[in-house]
Amino acid sequence: MHEGEYAPSKARLSVESYYDDHGRDIKYKEAICILCGLCVKNCPKEAITMTDKIAVDHEKCIGCKTCLKVCPTKAVRYNEKGKSVICDTCDGAPICVEICPHSALSYK
Ligand code: SF4
Ligand code: SF4
Repeated sequence: MHEGEYAPSKARLSVESYYDDHGRDIKYKEAICILCGLCVKNCPKEAITMTDKIAVDHEKCIGCKTCLKVCPTKAVRYNEKGKSVICDTCDGAPICVEICPHSALSYK
């Protein structure tokens, strides 16, 4: 809970919904970081670092959205200050998985 409150609008994880090929059944796909490193390489301010997780230095981020454009999984979101935010899986123990009231999330 990086933001200190339960607020879906501030969640770093997002889930996209779409219809199957027949346009009938709705499907869901998570937008999560796969540690490809493209945002790190392309950030003009060197604001993103990657170890076993991704981290954004908000002192350096200028909100240019280059990371959003290059991310293959649409894992980048922006906070209310226009700074890039990326799910870091809460260091491997995602709290969203723990607290989801419908047990709709899992992490492997
Ligand atoms: S939005 Fe911020 S983190 Fe993303 S590429 Fe631009 S400066 Fe870097
Ligand atoms: S946020 Fe996107 S571009 Fe950056 S490392 Fe993760 S998957 Fe790659």
